[in-house]
Amino acid sequence: TISLMAIDAAGIMAAGTSTNGASFKVPGRVGDGPITGSGSYVDGDVGACGATGDGDIMMRFLPCYQAVENLRRGMNPEEAAYDAVLRMVRKYPAVASGIVVVDKDGEHGAAASGWGGTFTYAFRGGLMNATNVVGVPNICV
Ligand code: ASP
Repeated sequence: TISLMAIDAAGIMAAGTSTNGASFKVPGRVGDGPITGSGSYVDGDVGACGATGDGDIMMRFLPCYQAVENLRRGMNPEEAAYDAVLRMVRKYPAVASGIVVVDKDGEHGAAASGWGGTFTYAFRGGLMNATNVVGVPNICV
């Protein structure tokens, strides 16, 4: 999956996600990527979210919608992502998930679960002349 969130110079936000699909997927499976609120979500007044992971589980939780609503209710991006992942892990402890959140001011954070190694995301913006990569530990319950 490639999820992207962007803010332009005027503060307009966008989000989207692609998917390579799941291993052994049922022919014709669409997956979570195109489901608004699951693969990605954005409200330009609040922030944006992109997701990757076990789409068949994640689409039941609309984790990106949840994360953006968490921002609206006052959480910072890391807290918003953590809550969205925790809701899935509590029901499906082995779920592989990664949620990246950016607020309308460009602050960002992420949470993840179930990866063999550290989950990573990249960001770049403003006057940065290089892309930064952030490692995110897996949530376990
Ligand atoms: N979320 C994707 C799916 O379940 C898998 C991925 O590409 O991360 O189709």
